[in-house]
Amino acid sequence: MPNFKPLVFSGVQPTGNLHLGNYLGAIKKFVDLQKSHDCIYCVVDMHAITVPQDPAELRRNIREVTAAFIACGIDPVKHIVFNQSRVHEHAELAWIFNCVSRIGWLNRMTQFKEKAGKDRENASVGLYSYPNLMAADILVYRATHVPVGDDQKQHLELSRDIAQKFNNDFSASIDTLGLGPEFFPLPEPLIQGPATRVMSLRDGAKKMSKSDPSDYSRINLTDDADSIAQKIRKAKTDPEPLPSETAGLATRPEADNLVGIYAALTDMDKQGVLKEFAGSNFSTFKSALVDTAVEKLGPIGAEMQRLMQDTSYIDGVLADGGARAQTIAGPVMRSVKDILGFLR
Ligand code: ATP
Ligand code: MG
Repeated sequence: MPNFKPLVFSGVQPTGNLHLGNYLGAIKKFVDLQKSHDCIYCVVDMHAITVPQDPAELRRNIREVTAAFIACGIDPVKHIVFNQSRVHEHAELAWIFNCVSRIGWLNRMTQFKEKAGKDRENASVGLYSYPNLMAADILVYRATHVPVGDDQKQHLELSRDIAQKFNNDFSASIDTLGLGPEFFPLPEPLIQGPATRVMSLRDGAKKMSKSDPSDYSRINLTDDADSIAQKIRKAKTDPEPLPSETAGLATRPEADNLVGIYAALTDMDKQGVLKEFAGSNFSTFKSALVDTAVEKLGPIGAEMQRLMQDTSYIDGVLADGGARAQTIAGPVMRSVKDILGFLR
């Protein structure tokens, strides 16, 4: 494997209700990685339309995810922030990957099964081939590292399989053109820390999600202090006090979730949190969690609201980011066409 220049890529869908899981599982990591890496952060609007979207709502949500990125601390000048549909190379490479990826591989994807539900015949083809587009998003920049929540692990593995198969299938052509030995890196998932899978506040067995009909299941990044407090106080728990060791959380999913959230918000690990709260009941622990959540999320929500008023600034960020993204994606896509034998 040659040395690819380290580059971070990740995306968030503009599907509304950005929540604490998106923040702790993804966006907070995006912010941290800026110190050590060049980063590209994308508002993946083409993924959003794999399920029906209202155009006015979609426009608003694209701006809201952009505002969230910036409010959380992403620097769109030093790094790149843009919306996916602006850079047509994503769609072009996705088509090629539709022809590299295998139906058998996609059939194993659990996200499609969950999102399509019982009415699979009526799901969009886009929802099914979503992971091929995701592979294209990453590989059109030849990105090496991808920070995501645990739910995206399987898709990342598919991206690696696609990169590997492309490198193998076209190795002779890649070699002849002097573009090898490997043309694509095998992108590495970065899934670490105590909150890679934040669970619903109402049901410790379900992931916190944008689409849960109960607003009490999640903390939205735009929630005010009162809503955050109310949602945490109402969060499902059990009657036992907190244990002193993480092993004691193994059969207590709701407790485990709240401890993980507290740990991630305060940059501790779960054991450190338990050291502080062993033997405490939930009313004590929840009070501390409310204080911490309000302290960390309050300023983010306020800054998001402020940025959302300034659409010309947000739109400028996306236009500038798109143009800079294209200077990387364009040459990669031209090489891909040469490798395949397309005349251009
Ligand atoms: P949707 O229901 O529309 O898929 P989503 O909440 O899953 O919404 P995405 O835009 O698909 O949001 O994902 C953005 C990022 O947030 C991804 O890296 C994903 O892994 C991460 N993420 C989503 N939900 C959680 C969660 N509950 N805990 C940790 N990370 C999460
Ligand atoms: Mg998702």
